[in-house]
Amino acid sequence: MATPAGAGAIGIVRLSGPQAITLLNPLFRAKNLTQVDSHTLHLGYLRDEQGVVLDQVLVSIFKAPNSYTRENVVEISCHGSRYIQQQVIELCLRQGARLAREGEFTLRAFLNGQLDLSQAEAVADLIAAESAAAHQLALRQMRGGFSDEIQRLREQLIHFAAMIELELDFGEEDVEFANRQALEQLVLELTQLIKQLLDSFQLGNAIKNGVPTVLAGRPNAGKSTLLNALLKEERAIVSDIAGTTRDTIEAILTIEGVQFRLIDTAGIREATDQIEAIGVQKTLEQVAKSSILVYVYDAAALPPSAVQADLQQLQREGLSIVLVANKHDLPPHPALQTPTEQALQTQLAEQFPILHLSAKTQTHIDTLRQQLAQSAQLHALSTNATIVTNARHYSALHSALDSLHAVLSGLDQGISSDFLALDIRHALHHLGEITGEISTDDLLGHIFSKFCIGK
Ligand code: GDP
Repeated sequence: MATPAGAGAIGIVRLSGPQAITLLNPLFRAKNLTQVDSHTLHLGYLRDEQGVVLDQVLVSIFKAPNSYTRENVVEISCHGSRYIQQQVIELCLRQGARLAREGEFTLRAFLNGQLDLSQAEAVADLIAAESAAAHQLALRQMRGGFSDEIQRLREQLIHFAAMIELELDFGEEDVEFANRQALEQLVLELTQLIKQLLDSFQLGNAIKNGVPTVLAGRPNAGKSTLLNALLKEERAIVSDIAGTTRDTIEAILTIEGVQFRLIDTAGIREATDQIEAIGVQKTLEQVAKSSILVYVYDAAALPPSAVQADLQQLQREGLSIVLVANKHDLPPHPALQTPTEQALQTQLAEQFPILHLSAKTQTHIDTLRQQLAQSAQLHALSTNATIVTNARHYSALHSALDSLHAVLSGLDQGISSDFLALDIRHALHHLGEITGEISTDDLLGHIFSKFCIGK
């Protein structure tokens, strides 16, 4: 079944394999399907073995090798009642077909050379994509942009591996076919490229799974009000009694086609208004899982020195911090008139973006959206740079980078050709894992089990 389970307008049953067409032919009397051209549609009645009509169907014919799997493929579009769909499947099974396993059509497409492994994985991502950006990245990967890049890296390395292995054939004679300087230059370029790819994973992962964003601040700063303003709906409970919002609230916000997973930590606190006592531990746990922290404070009630003290606890490497000076509709904190606090305010503004807004009157809320897009570095999306979205690719790239570092230090120490060749082979192996030139049954089983049946 290629369409979702259950009743629908139409249901599509898909068959792939050398006998797909001959198996169906006796059940479809309108035409001899073995004689028709590839990529044609045929309307007629589907009958069971006794000649009893089951449904009027539309049959699509794709002949090997011009199909998704590169095998003969038949798609039977029937009326979408559960009963008909079930009958069509059972009829095919009685004729000798068997049920497909999860992802088996795409697995066959891979095994028959229609797609490489990273493209096959992109098919699963494409089906799962729930935002414009995730969709765009999956599509780019499915069309082979990433594979081409990996392929280029491999080909350059293969050239050197071949030269070095040629040296080994000459054994004692101390010849050098592979220019060591050129090799070093190439490996340096490759490590640079791989590092860029590795760096892109943070964005790629964020786009695929949403950008984890945490809203934190002292009680009554206006976090829940801000969340509501951002979502334009009453999602969080707003109250001026500290400690009302008990649980963390997670909401999805879409900015520029990317999903931000917003976690409101309003509930993370005991009934006291010191950030030290609000279960900093719990807030820190959320912060540790996030890539962006929106620190909200009541600018009318909290002086810059207190803001700075809070931030010292929350800051960590790799965390992008946005300050929201809330309650801009009220007069600013009187302490701002003292020179020390003024200096601290300037210092804060140099370190972080500070947005002055009012959650309650909903003024300047859009500046926060723009800032979130900037903090997530979404601009990298509009460039054509390759973005790694898959954890498996990320880990293979990491291993390839380690091997290339070994090549570099080997060159540095002037080690013998056989050891150099070994490290280069390792790097090639890891790059090959991405596109599937190197794969194991376990790996394939793992990847394709995540697909749905019929894809
Ligand atoms: P939380 O504890 O951080 O989630 O804070 P809430 O969102 O529950 O807000 C606490 C109180 O501050 C509520 O009475 C809100 O109406 C009020 N508040 C929130 N934002 C603003 C604002 O921009 N201006 C003013 N004047 N009051 C606000």
